[in-house]
Amino acid sequence: ARQFTRPLNDLANQVNTLLSAIAGAERVFEVMDEKDERSDEKEAAVLSEVKGEITFSNVSFAYERDEQTLTEVTFTAHAGETIAFVGPTGAGKTTIINLLSRFYDPDKGEIQLDGRNMAHIKRENVRSHMAFVLQDSFLFQGTIRENIRYGNLSASDEEVERAARLANADGFIQKFPEKYETTLKQNGQGISQGQKQLLSIARAILADPAILILDEATSSIDTVTEIKIQEALQRLMKGRTSFVIAHRLNTIRQADQIIVLQHGKITEKGSHEELMNNKGFYAELQAGQTKEQAV
Ligand code: ADP
Repeated sequence: ARQFTRPLNDLANQVNTLLSAIAGAERVFEVMDEKDERSDEKEAAVLSEVKGEITFSNVSFAYERDEQTLTEVTFTAHAGETIAFVGPTGAGKTTIINLLSRFYDPDKGEIQLDGRNMAHIKRENVRSHMAFVLQDSFLFQGTIRENIRYGNLSASDEEVERAARLANADGFIQKFPEKYETTLKQNGQGISQGQKQLLSIARAILADPAILILDEATSSIDTVTEIKIQEALQRLMKGRTSFVIAHRLNTIRQADQIIVLQHGKITEKGSHEELMNNKGFYAELQAGQTKEQAV
C-alpha cells in the first residue's frame, strides 16, 4: 500500500513518459504529484524560502514488511554542504534520496528541513526547493530552449541562455543550425549522454533551488565533456546543499561529509581524511581502487 509512486530509480523513465504527453505544461514534480495518491496534512506548511538544512533523526524505513531497508539513520547536512553517499549496491543510498524528496515517508524517526518536520510540509513544496540531476536526465520532445526553461517556466530567453552558458552547454548548442530552437527527440535521442547532462545542469541552474540531488553518471563520457560537466557541477553546487550518490573518487574526496552505508545503516561518517584515518570500509574501498569508484 505504500507503493504510491515509483522510487528514484524509475523516476527518469516515468517522467519521460509523462512529459511526452504534456510537454512543458508543468514542472516535473507537479507532474509527479499527480501520481502521488497521498494527500498532504490539512494544515501542511508551505515554505517560500529555505536555507536547505536537512536533518535525519533515527530514520528507519522498510519498503516491505519484514525487510528493513534503513535502520536508525541519523545525520545533519548544514546549508550549503555537499554530502556524498558511498556504499555497495543495495545499501540504501537511493532510499535516503527517496525519503528526502518525500516519495516515501519514514516509518520511524523524523526528517527535518530547516528544523521543521517535513511530514508537516506540503510534498510539492518540499520538492520545489530541490533540483535533480540524475544519470538519466529527463528530456522531452521540444526545443532545447523549452527543455532548459522547464527549470523555471517564467524565465526569460536571456536567463535560459545564461543558465546554458554557466552549465557549459552553450558551446554545443551554438553548433546546431537552429541553436536554442533545435528540437530534441524524446529522451534526448540524438545528443550524447554528456550533452544531456549539461542540459539537465542548465535546467537546475535556472531552477535555482536550495537543495540539489545528484546521481553521478557511471557511463563513460569523453574526457573533454567530463571536464565540462565537473566544472558546471561545481558552479551549480556552490551555495546549495547537495546530496550526491557519488561514483567518482574526486567528488567523494571533496565532499564536506561522506556517509558510508552498509545494509541500511550508517557505518562511517566524516570527511575524507577522517574516514581514511578510521581504517574501516571507506579506507579499504580507497585502497582497492585507483581511479573509478566501483560502488
Ligand atoms: P542503493 O541505492 O544503495 O543501491 P537502494 O536504496 O536502491 O540501494 O536499495 C536498498 C534496498 O531496498 C535494496 O535491497 C533494494 O532491493 C530495496 N528496494 C529498493 N527499492 C525498492 C522498492 N521500490 N520496493 C521494494 N524494495 C526496494
